[in-house]
Amino acid sequence: MRRWSEVAERVGATTKTSEKTSILAEYLASLDPADLPVAAVFLTGRPFPEADQRTVGIGWAGLTGVVLRVAGAAPDALGRAYDRSSDVATAVTDVLREAGHAPDPAGEPTVAEVRDAFERVHAAQGAAAKAAILEDLFARASPETAGGIVKVLSGELRIGLRGGLLEAAIAKAFDRPLEDVKRAGMLTGDIGRTATLAREDRLATAEMTLFNPLKFMLASPAEDAAEIMARLGPTVWVEDKYDGIRAQLHRTGSEVRLYSRDLHDISGQFPEVVDGARDLPWAGILDGELLAWKDGVVLPFLQLQARLGRKNPSPEIRARIPVVYVAWDVLGMDRDADAVVAPLLEHPLTERRRALEALQLPLAEEGGRFALSHLVSVDSVEGLEAAFADARARRNEGLMVKDPQSGYSPGRRGLGWLKMKKALATLDCVVVGVEVGHGKRHGVLSDYTFAVRDEASGDLVTIGKAYSGLTDAEIADMTKWFEAHTIRVHGRYRVVEPAIVVEVAFDVIMRSARHKSGFALRFPRIANLRPDKPVAEIDTLATVERLYEGLQHGAEHLVTAGARSRR
Ligand code: AMP
Repeated sequence: MRRWSEVAERVGATTKTSEKTSILAEYLASLDPADLPVAAVFLTGRPFPEADQRTVGIGWAGLTGVVLRVAGAAPDALGRAYDRSSDVATAVTDVLREAGHAPDPAGEPTVAEVRDAFERVHAAQGAAAKAAILEDLFARASPETAGGIVKVLSGELRIGLRGGLLEAAIAKAFDRPLEDVKRAGMLTGDIGRTATLAREDRLATAEMTLFNPLKFMLASPAEDAAEIMARLGPTVWVEDKYDGIRAQLHRTGSEVRLYSRDLHDISGQFPEVVDGARDLPWAGILDGELLAWKDGVVLPFLQLQARLGRKNPSPEIRARIPVVYVAWDVLGMDRDADAVVAPLLEHPLTERRRALEALQLPLAEEGGRFALSHLVSVDSVEGLEAAFADARARRNEGLMVKDPQSGYSPGRRGLGWLKMKKALATLDCVVVGVEVGHGKRHGVLSDYTFAVRDEASGDLVTIGKAYSGLTDAEIADMTKWFEAHTIRVHGRYRVVEPAIVVEVAFDVIMRSARHKSGFALRFPRIANLRPDKPVAEIDTLATVERLYEGLQHGAEHLVTAGARSRR
């Protein structure tokens, strides 16, 4: 693990992509077969592979206690160190270094041993038992290695490892074509397994298997119909942008599972959809959205939210807020009801849609639990603007515009899909700090400071602060969560673990030195909590810059006249 930590430091120290790739490739090539998949997963800033449901389950309070005990340092030592670097991993390294902490002379923990400890922490019951395992691990580690372990635990590598870089490093390490690495990564959804296959020259054997969720294809934001047509035209496919919960459906025989955007199994929350997908004459994987739907009408997202996080929902709530699955894509299919499915990812959308329609899903209108996304083909700017207005009239958020020739690229914010949203944009941000509110909100943590991600450095950069627009019950719940996940207290202000994603609405973006991003929002308000969205998918500084530039060109660019007059 010492080398992993040193490699992470070196990768973070250079901004050159080619250098980052070389450092990583050399490291990966040198690893033994047992350490390779683990080290690769750690480089994604996760203790376990993405599709693995497990978490270590130790909060900041627990981690702080462990580090202070190992260092024998004063209670506020870690907080003070954090103030200097604003980075938890660096703070931990600093505190242990200042305490003169020495690693175990018999050897520091290896990458595989760290992983083993993470597994045991996950399985341990109670904070004390979890802390004891970590304490043992940190006691054996050098300050630098401990910093590396914290990077993985916190999910904040901060070494500027952008999407695709790790795959490029694997390709280089084992001298395999990048395309083959990408393809295996897409099919297995597991970077550790992909690294092993590359090492063994077995990338071609990668398979798509049921109940092994794939990453979701993402869309890039766009506001201007002309720009969208120029990028995806001459003919584009336009679907309504539904405001529900993204889900991947896997099924064969009577076995059905639904996976959320962060690849968690959410089948238990939506039993009616699971039941409605049993015993169909095909096996395969669909992409789509869960929507609350009653008597032919889509219910607002707020109502659907009441179903989130409720395992085994009561018959009462199921009757009040019934859920259907709107499908728009099929990722893999096999009519033999086998666990291995034939991937369709590289086939054009036109073919995938045809395959989807051929499934003859039991439709909601006929008592089933499915719908197909509303789809029209458009070949002019005016046509696109009219479609946008129609989608808004159907009370949808906006449009998803898709290139009919595009393949499905899991985990990529590719250019095959563009989202054309409501006139005033919202940004998905992560809460990094909270404060107690004023007046009625005295005593609860209701003021949130939030950040977007600077992709170049991997850092979270603040962009604004808003009074929470959440309900009192939500604020009370969130207050408890923030209290348990506070990193540092500065008077009224608490630095918190960056894990809560919020959708922030605002009127205007301005340049400003007040926040680290260099931008500020006018009249920001928290429109929604987004528990369905992982922190890795929050908006980036580049998106903020694009929105800002768009505003400089005048509002016409953002609010197309056609769309506005028809709303
Ligand atoms: P956003 O959450 O704003 O980044 O927008 C992307 C999300 O839009 C996806 O993750 C889906 O949950 C959702 N979405 C709604 N309708 C569609 C559609 N027709 N095609 C693809 N994604 C859609």
